[in-house]
Amino acid sequence: MKKPVILAVDDDVDVLRAVERDLRRQYGERFRVMRADSGASALELVQQLKLRNEALALFLVDQRMPRMSGVEFLEHALKEFPTVKRALLTAYADTDAAISAINSVQIDYYLMKPWDPPEERLYPVLDDLLEDWLASFHPPFEGIRVIGLKWSPQAHAVKDFLARNQIPFQWLDVETDAEARKLNEQAGDGRNLPLTIFADGSWLREPTPEVLAGKVGLQTRAEMPSYDLAIIGAGPAGLAAAVYGASEGLSTVMVEREAPGGQAGSSSRIENYLGFPSGLSGGDLARRAVAQARRFGTEILTPQHAKKIRLNGPYRVVTLSDGSEISCQALLVATGVSYRRLDIPGIARLTGAGVYYGAAATEAISCTNADAYIVGAGNSAGQAAMYLSRFAKSVTLLVRGSSLTKTMSQYLIDQIAKTPNISSQFRSRVTEAKGNGRLDALTIASDETGEVKTVPAIALFIFIGAMPHTEAIAELIECDDRGFILSGPDLMTNGRRPRNWPLQRDPYLLETNVPGIFVAGDVRHGSIKRVASAVGEGSIAIELVHQYLNRF
Ligand SMILES: Cc1cc2nc3c(=O)[nH]c(=O)nc-3n(C[C@H](O)[C@H](O)[C@H](O)COP(=O)(O)OP(=O)(O)OC[C@H]3O[C@@H](n4cnc5c(N)ncnc54)[C@H](O)[C@@H]3O)c2cc1C
Repeated sequence: MKKPVILAVDDDVDVLRAVERDLRRQYGERFRVMRADSGASALELVQQLKLRNEALALFLVDQRMPRMSGVEFLEHALKEFPTVKRALLTAYADTDAAISAINSVQIDYYLMKPWDPPEERLYPVLDDLLEDWLASFHPPFEGIRVIGLKWSPQAHAVKDFLARNQIPFQWLDVETDAEARKLNEQAGDGRNLPLTIFADGSWLREPTPEVLAGKVGLQTRAEMPSYDLAIIGAGPAGLAAAVYGASEGLSTVMVEREAPGGQAGSSSRIENYLGFPSGLSGGDLARRAVAQARRFGTEILTPQHAKKIRLNGPYRVVTLSDGSEISCQALLVATGVSYRRLDIPGIARLTGAGVYYGAAATEAISCTNADAYIVGAGNSAGQAAMYLSRFAKSVTLLVRGSSLTKTMSQYLIDQIAKTPNISSQFRSRVTEAKGNGRLDALTIASDETGEVKTVPAIALFIFIGAMPHTEAIAELIECDDRGFILSGPDLMTNGRRPRNWPLQRDPYLLETNVPGIFVAGDVRHGSIKRVASAVGEGSIAIELVHQYLNRF
């Protein structure tokens, strides 16, 4: 935790130096002593401290300064830090001004210059003031602060990016929080929200993920031109491969376009992953896996999008979104799937402003005491319902079919049945999302009765089936008719190897139609679409990578 600040202000440089020296000697261990040689420069410092969210304990200010007196300085500074203790340094002739300052700026004390010996004439007074201040001091939040409008898609994007990259932040709603409004006015022209203020007091308006990544120190550039293994996608499959690959001595780089954790990272509770009897959140799983992969030396580049893959002799070359390239001997595609878009009026316009794809964990708080809806009937929809039910007044699952039994695990069906504020509407569809700037109502049609009704809704979470991410490899790698990548035995037709296959052996189990390019996890044709199976495939892939590197 940063030390709270004591700020000394005096235009006489010798006096200022002496005050600073005496303050440091007595309080330097517990407080940061700062100084300013005029009221104006002290006010600048105060603004910076405010933007950095630092704690200010005490102003020790000379009354008689040119241009701005001590009392005038305090009048301005106390608007920013109203609870700071304040003491005036005065000469005998200023006694009247000091006494009237007790009324105007509620100074706590005035001290006569000179204050020698400080043990008798300075420290006892300041000890008292500082103890008093410490008794009601709550350390301020020291990380990143995001200030914006609650229902803004841009604010959602920033919050989601930070949360999924495990970067702690404090959210401040500019409409309801006076402190947020003040900070917004201080940082530039107050327009273009969200505003992101960093721990060092610097700030950005409407930051893109790339700019944010640079500010928070995420690595987006590879350190080496070439690696034994490159992995595209840092979901469970990619992360497992990174841990096994790097721990077994392969120089390993992983490219992730959003945030490590993949789909699992957005899951509010994974209850069926081996070794975690009471379940764990996707965020927790991602954090542990990332730490493990890094510990073994994996480089994780994020946010960085693999755009294209090409072959260069024995090397596989990945072109990234910033135009840079990474070369590797073996490549693992673990790009997973994402939710299909719901193509009905209003959805595209309100996505991020009340309509979310798989973002239950990030946005649950905004559903507090409100009505939330979920489209979908799979495990992810069920988990989201359970999580949201802790915040929302009511959660309604809108299901196209007539039951959950075919699509959802029984343990989730049982949990939902026991949760009074979750209900399911079977054979129903959302037909329109309504709202001006943010979702406020949904139109729902019943396929059973034909009834169409419009209901108030603050949030709609969509979990409706998967689409594989294969844009980067589309020209090179064989996929099935739904776009999932074929590998190993699935590439063989009547015992014949795939077209243009150059080697005298069959493709390995998770190898694609290009030797040395492997696939693991949800993006693979025939995959199970579970965390454990993605992790299993990622680990198996490494054994096959070794076989490939050793023998081709
Ligand atoms: C909300 C939710 C809850 C779930 N709950 C459970 C559960 O309880 N139990 C369970 O077993 N399973 C659960 N699942 C399923 C499970 O999360 C997936 O099966 C698993 O995440 C698949 O892992 P993966 O690594 O194959 O792919 P993903 O997790 O999809 O990860 C792929 C990664 O690749 C990245 N990527 C894609 N294209 C590119 C590119 N071109 N360049 C760079 N990066 C790219 C993506 O951004 C993503 O991070 C859940 C899924 C969701 C969405």
